[in-house]
This record gives sequence, C-alpha cells and structure tokens, in this order.
Amino acid sequence: MSEQSKATAGKASITVRCPTCSKPVTWSEASQFRPFCSERCRLIDLGEWANEEKAIPGAPLPDAVNPDADKEDDNW
Ligand SMILES: [Zn+2]
Repeated sequence: MSEQSKATAGKASITVRCPTCSKPVTWSEASQFRPFCSERCRLIDLGEWANEEKAIPGAPLPDAVNPDADKEDDNW
C-alpha cells in the first residue's frame, strides 16, 4: 500500500495536499489531521459532506404553512 510513495531526494517525508485548502501537509505522525492540514479543514470537509447528506432530494419537508390563511391575510 503505497499510494503516495514519492521519495523526495532521500527524505522520507511525504507531502500531501489538504483536500479542503490544497495546502501541503506533511504525512507524518505530527500531522494528526492528515490528509487535512488542520482540524478546521477536516471539519469543513465533514460539514460539506453532512450538508450534502441533508440536501438529499425527496425528503419530505415539514413546511406546510397553511397557504389559505396566508392568502386571506394578503387579500385583506
Ligand atoms: Zn487545509
């Protein structure tokens, strides 16, 4: 399993790009949020993912706000 095996001139450190902000992230134990550069970027990515989950079409939205009552108020 060596998806990022770019040996850089003798250095054993691998750098990946943060999926959120494209910042270079050193793939090491120090980067605990890898492949993200920070916890913030990780949360942003998770948030986007969660939003997409929420935006699944077909889910019934409980926004039935009795249009009749609204209409009457408008016509007045
Ligand atoms: Zn980032």
